[in-house]
Amino acid sequence: MRTLWSYFHNSENRLLPTATSLLNMSTAAVKPPCIFCTIAAKEDATTEILYEDEILVAFRDIHPATDRHLLIVPKRHIASAKSLTVVDMATVTQLVDAGRKVLSEAGVDPADEEVRMGFHWPPFHLIHHLHLHVLYPVSKMGFLSRIVFRPDSWWFVSPETVLQGLRNKSDEQPHQ
Ligand SMILES: [Zn+2]
Ligand SMILES: [Zn+2]
Repeated sequence: MRTLWSYFHNSENRLLPTATSLLNMSTAAVKPPCIFCTIAAKEDATTEILYEDEILVAFRDIHPATDRHLLIVPKRHIASAKSLTVVDMATVTQLVDAGRKVLSEAGVDPADEEVRMGFHWPPFHLIHHLHLHVLYPVSKMGFLSRIVFRPDSWWFVSPETVLQGLRNKSDEQPHQ
């Protein structure tokens, strides 16, 4: 009778490749690699980094919602806009500044009304690594994209709103 052991081991009691791959799969299931951490570490050959500094990277969204659709991603893994704290205010500002810079370099005025920026608000995010969406022009966005990236909805918040929320949080801190 074949035992379970024999399915995974050869005659020399060595682990068979199937067992090894099953083990790898279970490890991956426990801790899936974060795609944005991978891109930020420049370990994803298919992603072109448009801009980079010590704290962030900028690259194109894989599913562009309009002509220009960038993602500005901090190199440090931050789960979402909701998990930001008062100490992250500078990071939010740096993400926005980088977005403006990349737009300017592409000949787009960052102050143009057609520019939209924002963060997903949990649980309405697919990738659990904070990313700023930068979109231009808004008028070329399709019906669905206009809903997904609707400014200051329950699911998509502007950087200004995020910063205001963090300011309020810091005001709430008990004074001693
Ligand atoms: Zn990450
Ligand atoms: Zn997104």
